[in-house]
Amino acid sequence: MDEFTAVSRAREFVRNIDSDAVPVPIEAYAESVGAKIKYDSNMRPGEDGCSTLFKGKLIIAVNARDIPQRQRFTVCHEIAHAVLGLPSEHGANSWSYAKRPLNEILCDVFAAELLLPVDKFKPLVDDDEPGFRTISSLAETFQASLASTASRFATVSNMPCAYVLSEAGKVKYSARSRAFREMNGWVVQGAQLPSESMANRLRDGGRVGEPEEMEADVWLSNWTRGGVLVEDSRHMATWDQTLSLIWFEDGGLRTEAPDRRMTFERDGLNELDGVLSWPGKKRRR
Ligand SMILES: [Zn+2]
Repeated sequence: MDEFTAVSRAREFVRNIDSDAVPVPIEAYAESVGAKIKYDSNMRPGEDGCSTLFKGKLIIAVNARDIPQRQRFTVCHEIAHAVLGLPSEHGANSWSYAKRPLNEILCDVFAAELLLPVDKFKPLVDDDEPGFRTISSLAETFQASLASTASRFATVSNMPCAYVLSEAGKVKYSARSRAFREMNGWVVQGAQLPSESMANRLRDGGRVGEPEEMEADVWLSNWTRGGVLVEDSRHMATWDQTLSLIWFEDGGLRTEAPDRRMTFERDGLNELDGVLSWPGKKRRR
């Protein structure tokens, strides 16, 4: 199975539930697959949940010690195993994104679609300023964790934007918007957090402030187009995880056709792809 199939099946699932409720009705989701949710206080820390068949009924056991937002994601993840027919490969440390098996990644993708449905979530993303102020408010609205909301924010955004999750100061995972992928914006997995990044400073005990501007190649590898990125980050000391959202602001990406004559004069290139390098550093509003 591929990601596209998982996403399509999840959207079909959400359509069939046909609910306008936000936050989304997790119990109705579980009922629709004939499952019962059981909050288990005997689960170990780091163990999210699992599904078992008991007298022909699917029981979704969720770690009662997890925060409710995490529990909601777990229920959706377990529903994914049932709907997609993918066996679970739950490892010892579910907080770690390193070497996560494909089945688990697909179930996470499915779960994010259920918890933050694109038709309800995306309009709010497109309507608001990028950054953790917006992401926190959306996480509250949808009763989802900050991390899954941030990841989903980057995935559905129209802007060139990416979410980066780091653990112990190293990049473990990133999610990019379509515009960011099309620009070949790339953050290397396994890399050390850039020393000039806000993420690195927060991890060193720095205080959270406003989003910050920096040269794009602070974050991006093999990046030759110059330009200015904006970064907003949050550090979760409990798990030594740092969440970052990086993006190019409006005007960073030129969509209109460039003036070809000027282009010839400037660097003698033939055709351009409509994307020019960014103007110099500008002030944030
Ligand atoms: Zn799983």
